[in-house]
Amino acid sequence: VSTPDEIPVTDRTRLRRARERGTFDRATVYEILDDGFVCHLGLAHEGRAWAMPMVYGRSGDSLFVHGTAANWTLSTAGAGADMCLTVTHIDGLVLSRSVFHHSVNYRSVMVFGQAVTVDDADEKQRGFDAIMDHVHPGRGAEVRALSASEIRRTQLLRLDIDEASAKVRTGPPVEEAEDLALPVWGGEIPLRVVAGDPIPDEHVPDGVAAPRWRG
Ligand SMILES: Cc1cc2nc3c(=O)[nH]c(=O)nc-3n(C[C@H](O)[C@H](O)[C@H](O)COP(=O)(O)OP(=O)(O)OC[C@H]3O[C@@H](n4cnc5c(N)ncnc54)[C@H](O)[C@@H]3O)c2cc1C
Repeated sequence: VSTPDEIPVTDRTRLRRARERGTFDRATVYEILDDGFVCHLGLAHEGRAWAMPMVYGRSGDSLFVHGTAANWTLSTAGAGADMCLTVTHIDGLVLSRSVFHHSVNYRSVMVFGQAVTVDDADEKQRGFDAIMDHVHPGRGAEVRALSASEIRRTQLLRLDIDEASAKVRTGPPVEEAEDLALPVWGGEIPLRVVAGDPIPDEHVPDGVAAPRWRG
């Protein structure tokens, strides 16, 4: 039964493999989306398959992606192509005592649907703000705003989060009972994305503090 807090399951999003790792809980889906900022936008174009990496932003129940007006992935999606946007976090390498049971701890989301090209000036601004603040929280308020010409030269797509699924794997490796006695290390090697020290370019005036990315 779907509740407002749960994204309705469709024939396309019903998990067939490792169903216990799937979730349609809207809060979990949004948390995974908010933790990332790079997606892969998959669609068919002239009978061929494409998965294009891009940054994205979330605002409410919508995702926004943008690019130059000449970007054909966006133009194809904006013209109504069915698409799938995926986001993946690698949380750890799962090392088993056998080749077969090696795995990865992850959180991933797949969002399906048809995007719309945003032309309305106010919504376009909201979408650009969403991307800017999603990748660099708070930075949109510090830097020069987009000019009218920059807005014109950039296409923006909105994909509403109506059909989506998340899948999460956590924990140690699955092992065969007879492998547990092997003198081999088993467990998890955690992985995460961390920001390094900011490297200022040559134009930063004295006294301007470096940003702390998602710090
Ligand atoms: C980093 C990473 C590495 C992985 N490595 C492998 C691998 O090497 N081999 C492998 O077989 N599988 C791997 N998986 C799992 C893989 O993504 C699929 O979940 C799994 O292969 C089942 O695929 P299926 O074609 O049987 O899909 P089904 O379970 O039939 O998929 C049905 C529906 O379930 C949902 N769904 C399925 N998988 C995901 C997902 N990952 N995230 C969100 N929604 C999902 C989608 O809505 C999909 O349309 C990996 C996942 C991640 C995130």
